[in-house]
Amino acid sequence: MAVNFNRVTFIRSAASPGDFLRDGRGQVAFAGRSNVGKSSVINRLVNRKNFARVGATPGKTGQINYFLVEDRAYLVDLPGYGYAKVSKAERDRWGKLMEAYFASGLISHGVLIVDARHKPTADDVTMANWFFDAGCPVTVVANKLDKLKKSEIGPNLALIRDTLSLREGDALIPFSAEKGTGREELARLLTAAIEGR
Ligand code: GDP
Repeated sequence: MAVNFNRVTFIRSAASPGDFLRDGRGQVAFAGRSNVGKSSVINRLVNRKNFARVGATPGKTGQINYFLVEDRAYLVDLPGYGYAKVSKAERDRWGKLMEAYFASGLISHGVLIVDARHKPTADDVTMANWFFDAGCPVTVVANKLDKLKKSEIGPNLALIRDTLSLREGDALIPFSAEKGTGREELARLLTAAIEGR
């Protein structure tokens, strides 16, 4: 049965590995550069305006946030990366938390959010490789599609697929959190992931 992403509740934040949830439910992990629109994508998926926090001070959200969908699986909002004005101490803390989470074997599906307008950054490539190394399927969401001209969409998607070295089964979804483009496709793919298909 299709997963109803509207039926979602915040469960907890994790600031260290001891706080990770390990109850056997699937975990769909969302990663993305600060300001890429990760909160907006999650809000669009769950059809809420202010569920995941949009515009939270970049780099100040160094925690992993767990949202339970329909009592079936977690959406896991990973802290954003790539914000320049972050102290070394904060960056180190981020690295430790992420390393522990990616090594935990808890991720069942990765969602990497990139900017549809640009070539993925070195950090985006690193993050894609973390998902590959964690052995989980990856869905890439190319967000802010509304800011592209029609003629730019094809070439940009090809550049993203190529730069991230996506594998055959990895989906790349043109998406606009603002307009809702791609929402149904993302919901369908994550339903399949949650149902283990
Ligand atoms: P986060 O830091 O990755 O969680 O990013 P936010 O969700 O807070 O969004 C960052 C900024 O990008 C905000 O000003 C959003 O309104 C804007 N934004 C997010 N998604 C889109 C989109 O699809 N299109 C456009 N034009 N702006 C977007």
